[in-house]
Amino acid sequence: MPDCLFCKIAAGEIPSNKVYEDETVYAFYDIDPQAPTHFLVIPKAHIPSVAGIRPENAALAGHMLEVIAKVAGELGLESYRVVSNVGQQAGQTVPHLHFHVLAGRDMTWPPG
Ligand code: AMP
Ligand code: ZN
Repeated sequence: MPDCLFCKIAAGEIPSNKVYEDETVYAFYDIDPQAPTHFLVIPKAHIPSVAGIRPENAALAGHMLEVIAKVAGELGLESYRVVSNVGQQAGQTVPHLHFHVLAGRDMTWPPG
C-alpha cells in the first residue's frame, strides 16, 4: 500500500535492521526498543491489524507466529512477550499488522 511505512520497510525501500525474511514475512528490530530485545514481525502484504485477519490470510498470520518461535529460538530467548496493538486506544501507531516481540527484562501484568 502506498505511503505505508511497514510496506516500504518490507520492500527494502526504507532501511531497517533485519532479523529474518522469507517470501511472505519480514522481521526487524524496533527503532525505539522497549526491552533489551525488541523486534517486530510483519507480513509483506498489507494487512491493517489483527482485526484484518480473515480465512484467506489466516495461514499467513499463523506463519508469523511460527517465525516468532523460530527467531526467538535462534536468539536464545527463553521468555518473551508477544504483543499486537489494534487501534488507537490500544496504542497502535503504524496501521500495518505487526507483532512486537519483547524480551530481556522483567515484565508486569496487566500491561499498561
Ligand atoms: P505500534 O505503536 O504498536 O503500532 O508499534 C509500532 C512500532 O514501530 C513502534 O514500537 C515504533 O518504535 C516502531 N517503528 C516505527 N518506525 C520504525 C522504523 N522506521 N523502524 C523500526 N521500527 C519502527
Ligand atoms: Zn503496509
